[in-house]
Amino acid sequence: MTADLPDFTVTRKRIKTLRLTVRAPHGEVVVSAPPHVRESAITAFVADKAAWIAKHQERIATRPPPLKPGPEAEALREQLKNAAPPLVARWAAAMGLQTPDITVRRMTSRWGTCNTQTKRITLNLELARRDPALLEYVIVHELAHLIERRHNALFYAVMDAYLPDWRLRRRALNAS
Ligand SMILES: [Zn+2]
Repeated sequence: MTADLPDFTVTRKRIKTLRLTVRAPHGEVVVSAPPHVRESAITAFVADKAAWIAKHQERIATRPPPLKPGPEAEALREQLKNAAPPLVARWAAAMGLQTPDITVRRMTSRWGTCNTQTKRITLNLELARRDPALLEYVIVHELAHLIERRHNALFYAVMDAYLPDWRLRRRALNAS
């Protein structure tokens, strides 16, 4: 497949290397660039990734549209509110943690969050439309934050110990 140079916007940031993101749900291409990188270098960077960008835009376009408030969202919320607590309780016990409270809500950019102060896990309602193995991955990830708040070596060691195939699940989730 040959891909033309896609449209993109550039944001200058205090970072060291160029970063490229394809945003859902519309597939906009956003490049974050260090202050001194030239426009021509940015264009070459985007051109180099054109095929990859096209693939991601296709993938995003075939996703189900984001849930809107309504009966379907409510049914999915009930489904997730029933499915999540036993999984959270089981994994919390396995990881030696107290079972945290769970909130389900629509979120646009994250699958889950963990408030380590209030010990509350929030799950993205969209997980109700994904494979249960992916819900399980998000739950273990958020519980792992009750052991280590940051995404550092300890955090990943905890993930490796409890859910050795977590990288595969994360990849599947981010591709879905
Ligand atoms: Zn995290």
